[in-house]
Amino acid sequence: MGKKERFYADIMALNPGVTGSCNLVVVTLPNLSMPKIQFVVDCGLFQEKSEEILNNSFPFNPENLDFCLITHNHVDHIGRLPLLVKKGFRGKIYTSEPTSKLISLALWDCHKILKGSSKRKHKCDYLLYQSADLEQALTQVTSCNYGEEIQINDYVNVTFLKNGHLVGAALIYVKISYPGYQDINILFTGDYKGSNLFLDVDPIPENLKKIPLTVVQESTYGYMQTEEMKPCFEENVVEHIQNGGTVIVPVFSLGRSQEILYKLKLMQNAGKLSNSIPIFFDGKLAQQYTSLYVRGDLGIKEEMKDFLPENVTFVDRASRSSVLANTESKIILTTSGMGSYGPAQTYIANYISQPGILIQFTGYTAEGTLGARLKNTPFGEQVMIGGSEKIKLAQVEYTTEYSAHAKADEILEFLKQFSCLKLVLVNHGEENVKCQFAKRIIEEINPKDVEILGNQYFYRINPYGLIKAMPTKFK
Ligand SMILES: [Zn+2]
Ligand SMILES: [Zn+2]
Repeated sequence: MGKKERFYADIMALNPGVTGSCNLVVVTLPNLSMPKIQFVVDCGLFQEKSEEILNNSFPFNPENLDFCLITHNHVDHIGRLPLLVKKGFRGKIYTSEPTSKLISLALWDCHKILKGSSKRKHKCDYLLYQSADLEQALTQVTSCNYGEEIQINDYVNVTFLKNGHLVGAALIYVKISYPGYQDINILFTGDYKGSNLFLDVDPIPENLKKIPLTVVQESTYGYMQTEEMKPCFEENVVEHIQNGGTVIVPVFSLGRSQEILYKLKLMQNAGKLSNSIPIFFDGKLAQQYTSLYVRGDLGIKEEMKDFLPENVTFVDRASRSSVLANTESKIILTTSGMGSYGPAQTYIANYISQPGILIQFTGYTAEGTLGARLKNTPFGEQVMIGGSEKIKLAQVEYTTEYSAHAKADEILEFLKQFSCLKLVLVNHGEENVKCQFAKRIIEEINPKDVEILGNQYFYRINPYGLIKAMPTKFK
């Protein structure tokens, strides 16, 4: 083997699709007597019904991992951390400073949901992991400041860079070095968006734009252009409220809740929504996150700390029945965003068979969730909600206008910044989207190589880009 081939990293993704994000990286150092360095980037829960089976195990031994990097606080990127710990992982879990403050809330909420659904499905307490594993995982979380190069060991340095996808989200730049060799540089985008209403997102550092680089690039909306998004939220809500109706808005706890609250404030300020229309906000986790936003703990822009609309009431389990009994025109913001869990399911079950109701989804609804089931149920037909049959008589609408993912055009602009792009590994997208988008990257950016990341192949890279693809042989 030539010198170039003695220092390399093998990369694969455990996730064939969008959820269950986890990239395994195995680094071989030129001195073969030294152990390999192994780490994962993200460790998420599979949420698509067809992939749930993948939650139970890892195709590698977690005891052998040296460390873990977390891009952001979404369950499909962090939800299996306690399982990783249960299976023997004792290394550090590096994440951005805001994420280190948020992660405990998200993991405990996820634990509660898993517990509830295992009771329903198995009529017992079969769980992926126990609370003790979760508590142990939290002790391993290590906070990193944005923009600071962190030395993880003698060979690996990482830098967390701000990312507009979510409060606390990061692009993670990993530099792997060995004396006498060029560095292997990998940038993991996690889920990516270039801007965020609540945050100042810094541009990519100049030095990163000039070095030979491999980018592990998410591609969730790689099939869509920004201009194709058709905003309809405001119009739908205004129309329904003017007709004296009630509007249910399922929202994600972190990011989307706060953005929609701010949107309602803007609508009030512009006179499109009367301050006399009550706004109810139900969801414990969403309320906890909102309090952190208000306190400005998470690096929120000063001018965005005052984002709550007038006439908003925080609802809890005890006061929920009075909201359900309330017959006046109102707006109810509720979690979860896909409708399947939490109070959203209760509100949807209560209102789905009433005409004059608008249920306005504000984000992605994964296959198997209540949001997706409602989409596939024609008006007037039956739909199962929480074990009982309901007839769909409410108007159900969807919008992608609040999507926290870059669309194809924005991703291509992002990639164009890197003048020495060796390899793009297309990640985090449905299979056909990843293929389609890989073609566009070749046509419009033309890096040295483009490959589709998944659980079938390891891609071996060195400082100069791709060496070869090897079947993972995990299954
Ligand atoms: Zn995400
Ligand atoms: Zn994701």
